[in-house]
Amino acid sequence: MSVDARTATHVTSGARERSLWGRIDRGDLIRTLFVAACAVAVALGATWPWPQVPVIAVVGLVVGCWPIATGAWEDVRHRRMSMELSMLIAIVAAAAIGEWVTSLVIAAFVLAAEILEDLSMDRGRDALTDLMSFLPDTVQVRTDDGPVMRPLADVQEGDTVIVAPGGRIPVDGVVLFGRSSADQSRITGESWPVDLSPGSEVFAGSINQIGAVEVRAERVGADSSYGRIVDAVRQAQSSEPPVQRLADRLAAWLVYLALGGAVITYVVTRDLEATIAVVVVAGACGIAAGTPLAVLAAIARIARAGAFVKDGAHLEALSAVDTVVFDKTGTLTAGTPSVVEVRTDGMLDQDRLLTFAASAEAYSEHPLGKTMVASARTRSLELFPASEFTYEPGCGVTAVIEGHTVAVGNRTLVADAPEVVDAPGIASPVHVGVDGAYAGTILLADVIRPTPRAAIAEFHRRGVRTLILTGDQPATAQAVAAELGIDDVRAGLLPEQKLSAIDAEREAGRRVAMVGDGVNDAPSLARADVGIAMGSGTDIARESADIVLISSDLSDLVHTLHVARRARRIVMANFVGTIAIDLVGIVLASFGLLSPVAAAFIHVGSETAFILNSARLIPRRRVGAKVQSG
Ligand code: ADP
Ligand code: MG
Repeated sequence: MSVDARTATHVTSGARERSLWGRIDRGDLIRTLFVAACAVAVALGATWPWPQVPVIAVVGLVVGCWPIATGAWEDVRHRRMSMELSMLIAIVAAAAIGEWVTSLVIAAFVLAAEILEDLSMDRGRDALTDLMSFLPDTVQVRTDDGPVMRPLADVQEGDTVIVAPGGRIPVDGVVLFGRSSADQSRITGESWPVDLSPGSEVFAGSINQIGAVEVRAERVGADSSYGRIVDAVRQAQSSEPPVQRLADRLAAWLVYLALGGAVITYVVTRDLEATIAVVVVAGACGIAAGTPLAVLAAIARIARAGAFVKDGAHLEALSAVDTVVFDKTGTLTAGTPSVVEVRTDGMLDQDRLLTFAASAEAYSEHPLGKTMVASARTRSLELFPASEFTYEPGCGVTAVIEGHTVAVGNRTLVADAPEVVDAPGIASPVHVGVDGAYAGTILLADVIRPTPRAAIAEFHRRGVRTLILTGDQPATAQAVAAELGIDDVRAGLLPEQKLSAIDAEREAGRRVAMVGDGVNDAPSLARADVGIAMGSGTDIARESADIVLISSDLSDLVHTLHVARRARRIVMANFVGTIAIDLVGIVLASFGLLSPVAAAFIHVGSETAFILNSARLIPRRRVGAKVQSG
């Protein structure tokens, strides 16, 4: 974790301990109470010096309306219609006809509503900031004793950092060794990958793609582009969720309706009080305040349960999902396989075959590759240095070892490998080719993760269809699907074929969520309606995804879906409720059946009800605890 991220987490945990009372802005509170006191004083007869223009009322209004007027002025400048603006019109109109008490009461109500709004948003935000700790925290550094893992905060200028394919480049610096390409879109905005070779400049926060590179660190921590990303993330959290735009539009529309209604009321009845009441009763802040709170609270609630939703829009998309597509290796299976068998065709012995395969996989981020490296180490096999390392996502790796070109992967990569039909259980075959000729097969058995079975049953219960898309061979994929009760399987897919499978689903009118972990899943994660990455997956998958399951637990996805759907129901209820109350209120007020003060009461009361409705989603204040879905 960078220094910045740590500070952010620290600050938040401090904030979390503040009481409800401690969160209220004292200035706002005093202002509101002052305005209310002025209203009471004027109502009790403190109308000095002139009953038509009591000084206390004027002072109260100036104090009370200052923040409302500045808010309204902002809205005018941006040409938007808002609650502040309509309420200001009502307050001024009431004062103009000498209804000082009414005017002060409306101002006090508006101020109280704003405190309430700030308070609930503040609590929603806190929970979000915790997520800073999601950013990567350790990197591989080359030392005299070979590569070691080090906390990013301890990496210094001049250190040599090793970045595996699919890994996030953790520092700004210069490539010393290796060839690859990097996706720098996050830093430079340029979406086309740039080629990396010795001498190329790289930026922290960009994603290394197909090759392994070693980078000399030049700017680290908060100085690097990475440090700036942390800032950017922080800002994204304080910016408004996009669903709010719809809410704001609707709110503006309702304010126009109220003003239109007010004009008609005045023309027909010439009753100024009724006219003011019409303006006051509408205003639609239940929508404007309730929607962002619901989204923020839902994101926070999901976060507490171990998933990171990058944006409110993704939550909306998830609530509509009817098909969940899973990658297999690393997603449904643990991605921690073990070597169960080494078969050779006689050219090399078993140890040598494994040594070659492991040497070629030395930089691999793929679970199968890592396993072969670990297995070679356990057998005390000495690995050879490899060069010209390349990774073909969904197929395997090639590298030059001892002058031989070694290919390790599936039958797309090792063309003359035999189909393995007698693999035990859910073992996956990985073939090894040396100088273009098939040399042997390593069988790796993975275990199915503990949670998918229950999670998949839950998806089915909620009417969601499940599907496996995998690059592995059909027999293994079908065994996994049968074991987990998954509806459908497509096996032997290259990354592009995973993409077209997702396109086909979407063209058939389905709303698709894709869950994956690998470099090869990244394009599909970006293409699906909602991309979901396993926390244990590669950086590039987590980068491409909209939602990250930090704990790699699929039951968190069930919970996330549940909360997303609940948030949508709450937002819809607020929409419908606000419109209903505003319409009924406008009709009653225009017939003179609602006084301006009663109208203010209904306005603020209904807004409070909608905010509280959204606030039901705010997670309990227990850090790290799983929030029970319900
Ligand atoms: P999945 O879609 O199940 O996650 P991948 O698409 O990552 O699987 O890989 C598909 C197949 O390609 C694997 O089953 C394996 O045979 C081969 N493969 C991919 N990457 C590697 C690698 N680094 N080393 C060896 N084989 C690999
Ligand atoms: Mg995978």
